[in-house]
Amino acid sequence: VKTLTEFDTIAAISTPIGEGGISIVRMSGEAAVKIANGVFKGGDLTVVPSHTIHYGHLIDPADQQVIDEVMVSVMRAPKTFTREDIVEINCHGGIVVTNRILQLLLKRGARMAEAGEFTKRAFVNGRIDLTQAESVMDIVRAKTDRARQVAESQLEGGLLSKIQAMRQELLDTLANVEVNIDYPEYDADTITADQMIIVSKSVLGKIARLLETAAEGTALRNGLATAIIGRPNVGKSSLLNYLTKSDTAIVTDVAGTTRDTLEEYVAVKGVPLQLIDTAGIRETDNKVEKIGVERSKKALAKADLVLLLFDASRALTAEDRALIAATAGKKRIAILNKIDLGQQITVDQLKQLTASQVIATSILHEKNLDQLEEAIKDLFFSGIENSNDQVMVTNQRQVGLLEQAKQQLQDVVQALTGDVPVDIAQIDFNGAWETLGEITGESSPDELVNKLFSQFCLGK
Ligand code: GDP
Ligand code: ZN
Repeated sequence: VKTLTEFDTIAAISTPIGEGGISIVRMSGEAAVKIANGVFKGGDLTVVPSHTIHYGHLIDPADQQVIDEVMVSVMRAPKTFTREDIVEINCHGGIVVTNRILQLLLKRGARMAEAGEFTKRAFVNGRIDLTQAESVMDIVRAKTDRARQVAESQLEGGLLSKIQAMRQELLDTLANVEVNIDYPEYDADTITADQMIIVSKSVLGKIARLLETAAEGTALRNGLATAIIGRPNVGKSSLLNYLTKSDTAIVTDVAGTTRDTLEEYVAVKGVPLQLIDTAGIRETDNKVEKIGVERSKKALAKADLVLLLFDASRALTAEDRALIAATAGKKRIAILNKIDLGQQITVDQLKQLTASQVIATSILHEKNLDQLEEAIKDLFFSGIENSNDQVMVTNQRQVGLLEQAKQQLQDVVQALTGDVPVDIAQIDFNGAWETLGEITGESSPDELVNKLFSQFCLGK
């Protein structure tokens, strides 16, 4: 185990560049305070108490030129995020000045932090476990309050304590198995096998419950993939416009994507929706809509939720019926739009045809759209809200490891009910214990740690 002083001092810009008026440049390491003090005018930072903030100016010692007006926080080890000395420089000079401050710190002895290195230090110095480290990443990326809430509850170690309890259950049994293998004359094989089966099944049940949360957890993180479907002229673009322009909407284009795959995120009553193929919907207003069903099918393949629109003022067409058939089996809300133009179809008729919830709207006059938003929220949270259990599995690495542990324990149960000797079945039992440990980092190989932390944003 490395001691704190064996690490050099790292620095990075820790606020997203270009967002908000204030930028933070953060340093962590033994020399952090000394380096900051060398470029700060406004007091001696080396003698100030820990966890205090100081107003002053940042100067370039080479020419004594003032770079920016700043607030500098000094936080001394060990009560910091990394358990090292941390200095944060809050400046407001925009991207050029922020970069200049970072460059200055690098010139004065700090090293540019790698992506995720601050969080990695917190992990290596024993401040947080892997699930907590991942939660930091999730908080950074969280798109709505609800998602942030889930990430924060994990940061407090909710998932950690669940996994640890499962591991303890397995460990208690493993201890028994070891005793029996060491003293074969004490013939308790049957008892041990029975106990292994009971414990395996108990842990399997807990894994299953965690995995059930994974779909929702992933959706919370990434947004529920939502397709707006309907034949031409029913009001798809109007609905899209409404959703992306409402007060609660967060519209972000995924960087680096072309217009064809443009994805937009909106928050509907706290539910993050990732709207699929919105470029297609926007485009069709300028072009002849020749693709209807075909294009819808592509969007459908990716969708977790379908918003299926109908024109209330017209009788159902063959295309409407084809779309009902194509979206069967998806989470679906039927929207009977244009009710201001009179009703050729009733809500009840549509309910029967779609076996889905039906909301009658006039998107043009913004009528019943709140009802629609409530329906989306309810559909999403039904099943989550009911359980007080806030712990959710929110990322693919965790899901993968849970699936693996599940397989190992299923193999144990199958082996033991099929008369395989206990010491053979124990290999998988052992394996499950280790696999679960990988989730929390208690048995994590180095490359996993490196891979994980390299995903973090710079400066975190
Ligand atoms: P899309 O082809 O499915 O994308 O449909 P649009 O959103 O482009 O809407 C087609 C036309 O219907 C536009 O002129 C809209 O203003 C109009 N429209 C949309 N919703 C309503 C509604 O609730 N009532 C009425 N009267 N017109 C609507
Ligand atoms: Zn349109």
